[in-house]
Amino acid sequence: MNIEFCPNCSSNQYVKSGVIKDRQRYKCKKCGYYFTVNKIGKQIDSYYVNKALQLYLEGLSYREIERILGISHVSIINWVKKYNIKRPYSFEYHSTYKILNAVELAKYFSDNKNLIGAGVIVTELGDKFMLIKWERFKG
Ligand SMILES: [Zn+2]
Repeated sequence: MNIEFCPNCSSNQYVKSGVIKDRQRYKCKKCGYYFTVNKIGKQIDSYYVNKALQLYLEGLSYREIERILGISHVSIINWVKKYNIKRPYSFEYHSTYKILNAVELAKYFSDNKNLIGAGVIVTELGDKFMLIKWERFKG
């Protein structure tokens, strides 16, 4: 398995620190957290890395993403740096979001008012859906 981040603080600076029950143990140089290879696979699912970066690109702040996904904003900042993600620079639009289940989502789309004059994307989020909407700032 390929190790990339400390599961506690997402730093990529760690050192080997002994072997426990046939598993390599590592120690994070930044926060001092000990972890093994197996643990990492559980803690940082690439699903959440993708979601976090997606939401970042859609204009959400680190704190918002932290609140929605339950991932430390420090981790998200590290991923943005690691993958060199840059947001398009624009003040023209701002995004708002809602977390909806499938029924609420269907209801939302059945109302024309919700769709006119705004772009909407929907992304899966665990067992719910996240709807992100852009509206042009009124000049
Ligand atoms: Zn750490």
